[in-house]
Amino acid sequence: MTETTTHEFQAETKKLLDIVINSLYTERDVFIRELISNASDSLEKFRHESLTKDELFDGHMPLEISIDLDEEKKLLTITDTGIGMTKNELVENLGTIAHSGSDTFLSELAEAARNDVSLIGQFGVGFYAAFMAGSKVQVKSRSWDGSEGHEWSSDGTGSYSVSECPGLHRGTKVIVTLKDDCLDYAKKWKVESVVKQYSSFVPFPINLEGEKINTVQALWARSRTEIKDEEYVEFYKFIGNAIDEPTLRLHFSADAPLAINALLFVPQENMENMGFGRMTPGVNLYCQRILIDQHSENILPEWLRFLKGVVDSEDLPLNISRQALQDNALVAKLRKVITKRFLKFLDEEAKTNTEGYQKFWETFGIFLKEGMTSDFEFRKELAKLIRFESSKSKAGEPIGLAEYVLRMHPDQKEIYYINGPNRASIEAGPYVEMFRKKDVEILYTMEPIDDFVLSHLSEFEEKKLVSADRADLSLGDQEDVSSDKKSDDIQGLDDKAGDELISWLKNVLEGKVADVSRSHRLVDAPAMIVNPDGFMTSSMERVMAASRFEKGLVPEISKKNLEINTESDLICKLVNLIKADEDFAKEVAVQIYDNAMIQAGLAVDPLEMVERNYRILGKAVA
Ligand code: ADP
Repeated sequence: MTETTTHEFQAETKKLLDIVINSLYTERDVFIRELISNASDSLEKFRHESLTKDELFDGHMPLEISIDLDEEKKLLTITDTGIGMTKNELVENLGTIAHSGSDTFLSELAEAARNDVSLIGQFGVGFYAAFMAGSKVQVKSRSWDGSEGHEWSSDGTGSYSVSECPGLHRGTKVIVTLKDDCLDYAKKWKVESVVKQYSSFVPFPINLEGEKINTVQALWARSRTEIKDEEYVEFYKFIGNAIDEPTLRLHFSADAPLAINALLFVPQENMENMGFGRMTPGVNLYCQRILIDQHSENILPEWLRFLKGVVDSEDLPLNISRQALQDNALVAKLRKVITKRFLKFLDEEAKTNTEGYQKFWETFGIFLKEGMTSDFEFRKELAKLIRFESSKSKAGEPIGLAEYVLRMHPDQKEIYYINGPNRASIEAGPYVEMFRKKDVEILYTMEPIDDFVLSHLSEFEEKKLVSADRADLSLGDQEDVSSDKKSDDIQGLDDKAGDELISWLKNVLEGKVADVSRSHRLVDAPAMIVNPDGFMTSSMERVMAASRFEKGLVPEISKKNLEINTESDLICKLVNLIKADEDFAKEVAVQIYDNAMIQAGLAVDPLEMVERNYRILGKAVA
């Protein structure tokens, strides 16, 4: 004799059901995710119990989820062999909302439903999502304690009924009678695509009409030692939708301060370099193997968007909305922990797998540079990872700042760098002359972003980073070592002649330069441009000017200082030329200035420059 009792839903539950039934019709797919997630949870719980207890009801049954479809009867049935529910549990769990703070949850949900229905799919509404697609939902369940099974049944309006249901196996069967506009969910292709989208990595087999459809396992949750390389590669291809193989991978778990399982891959190529536009983030966020945020924008900083993989944290609430992820303190903490861990991994790679890191740096270094200029939080970690060629590195073999510091002269206090389009032109230019002479290493920054990176960093291991085109640069008392040092018998201009020349140049170059001064650094070159502003380098100004130009604004370059080498032959002879033919001397002076600007990578008026240059050549061949 079976007895049926009828119960009213708790008030909040009614509200939720009302929202689910009346507003959630565009994101219906998620009901399958919710039901599978519950099934998976109940299997996890059973697995946990079976670890500690010998006697479990129906202990022989395989842990799995089955989905059965019946188009004719309009049924979708999801069965699990998990922990099941007793009669009381059915009433308690399915008649009330278990969410803590369910009131806030409900008002947020109602708000989202009013504003943008598509948002709502991000709110896990749990079991009640079944009513998004079902006109009636039956839950037949038998607990792992072996007590008699029961059936819960409701049409989602105001009440539900519970009756005995003998002869069940352990676990839960949720039978959804589909609404007429939801009959697709009785079709195999549809259900299969939804399961693959949301639940591929559920750690239990999901059988759809007898066929196992989730072939890819929650690899990240398994122990590293058990996983073969091929499995990692397969997994990478699956989640990254990729055909290549990853170049680096990091698989790590932590229990404290947060429970994290993460599996991150670095692909072969930087697709942004290949003209594919800005990448979307490639890391999915899971909670207990249930996908909660695909291509998550929150779990890693934007500049790590090239990574593919999975982050799984049990600490996250499964029902968190995408919007709530954005300003969730726990997510922020996860992001910090995972980012630091990944950067540490790169640092270890750099030390143990130099070649691999080198390749990584070539392809993805630009993202780390982006991180350096956009994200203050990880500056210290990123500083260890950035690489530049230098006067002491081989071409194409950039070095890290730590290596530079190791090689510094004992009394050298600063780290120097200079920008240029390539190694050869930097080495031919005026800025490195003194460095060569004094055997001080100088970094070559060859990308537009580089000087921004170093100026953002500003110091490394308490050594200031200084651009060699600064006006106040001094290499201190460093001894000259280079053989190209001038012999003492070369006489430059004396102080008086030098001063006179400088004031003459200031007149001639009026409007072009901020100042003209005698250089203490130049060896061969007659002149060079330096920046009176200690922060901006010429390269940075060039980038900013280009971006102003792109925006249709007038590109502005601040006035620079011109340093002249009063020991240079050309400069000395210029003094005589002023006396002999001042007009021609002026042409030469402006040309020297233009040449120095070009060596600084700064723009000059090409037409004017070429015409002047021809006039000078004309005199030279005359
Ligand atoms: P949540 O899963 O977020 O707790 P739900 O509304 O989805 O909220 O489910 C409420 C409760 O019902 C669950 O916490 C669980 O105890 C129980 N439950 C739901 N589905 C199952 C199932 N398939 N097997 C066992 N218990 C379940």
